[in-house]
Amino acid sequence: MLYLDNAATTPMRPKVLEAMLPYLTDNFYNPSSVYTPARKARAAIDDARLVIAKCLNARPDEIFFTSGGTESDNWAIKGVIEASKRGRHIITTEAEHHGILYVCKHMEKKGCTVTYLPVDAEGFVNPNDLEAAITPETALVSIMLANNEVGTIQPMEEFAKITKKHGIPLHTDAVQAVGHIPINVEEMGVDMLALSAHKFGGPKGIGAMYVKKGTKISPLFQGGAQERSNRAGTENVAGIIGMAAALEISISELAIEFTRVSLLRDKLIREILENIPYTRLNGATGERRLPGNVNISFRFVEGESLLLHLDMQGCCASTGSACSSGALEPSHVLMALGLGHELANGALRFSFGAENTEDDITKLMSILKPSVEKLRNLSPLYDDFLKEK
Ligand code: PLP
Repeated sequence: MLYLDNAATTPMRPKVLEAMLPYLTDNFYNPSSVYTPARKARAAIDDARLVIAKCLNARPDEIFFTSGGTESDNWAIKGVIEASKRGRHIITTEAEHHGILYVCKHMEKKGCTVTYLPVDAEGFVNPNDLEAAITPETALVSIMLANNEVGTIQPMEEFAKITKKHGIPLHTDAVQAVGHIPINVEEMGVDMLALSAHKFGGPKGIGAMYVKKGTKISPLFQGGAQERSNRAGTENVAGIIGMAAALEISISELAIEFTRVSLLRDKLIREILENIPYTRLNGATGERRLPGNVNISFRFVEGESLLLHLDMQGCCASTGSACSSGALEPSHVLMALGLGHELANGALRFSFGAENTEDDITKLMSILKPSVEKLRNLSPLYDDFLKEK
């Protein structure tokens, strides 16, 4: 199997499973209980919090465990709006993950106003647009750090300078970035940052949010006093331990992996653009793009058909399109970048992770080129194009 969908999820590292196992077996205790073995589980959670805080350059009391990226994103938006004395205006972008975008749509129905900032052809938000969108009512700015479809890494420090000047909290969905690029919440200047363990070799269903001390935010749900009364519910002890182990490993390997995976990315981009005609790269290049992300539009091909074709040959990749009411909806991210329907629907994302090697590129190219050719030969659009040439 050729797994090239690490932006969707990553395989769990063996060392992570090893770290988790005791908390799924012998140490099954509720960390809120008072007896000695339960206090061991509590201590393990505290250690995990320290590890995660250190990896982000945060304080341990600024780390809150959640069930993942979606919950952290929901909490940031709903929690800040509920606590806001300023107003009910939210600023976000057109290229966010649905974990932000659909929460904002929901908040509009609850009486909030939302400004969706445009992105340029590479996926970048213009800081001047952010500043111009701020009003006395603005309660929150939420801009993703790295885009899940095209890998564009936003200049977060520039946004933070603006939000600080206006005294507005800045949240970033860093789900695709954490574990893959260096993160320093202090230097970045954000007030909240969402992360999810399964994107960096950890288990699914566990995540965290960094919340800078002093940020006004209400809890998402009511119940027990876990997470200093900010996130009720018995902790996912094994998940928390696994997430900390996965992040620690990712950070320890980051300097080497960043370069290694970036080289894989650039090699695949080159191979596709040079060997398969009528293709284009979507998103930015170099260090402003996530090391593992390749997003290519194949003209005269439906991304979904190509995806299924690759799947039949053992290769896992992804498209950003969604099938709604029987019709293929192009990716909102690619449309925000200014692609037309044809290029947006013809896009495929390949994402590399810790287990991929150059060999995978050779394997992919050996099936990708003939698959594209086969599908194009069935395309009336391609036929017309050739006749007109
Ligand atoms: N935000 C981004 C940018 C993502 O890529 C994802 C997952 O694909 C999420 C949020 C949701 O994270 P989770 O799967 O942990 O809920």
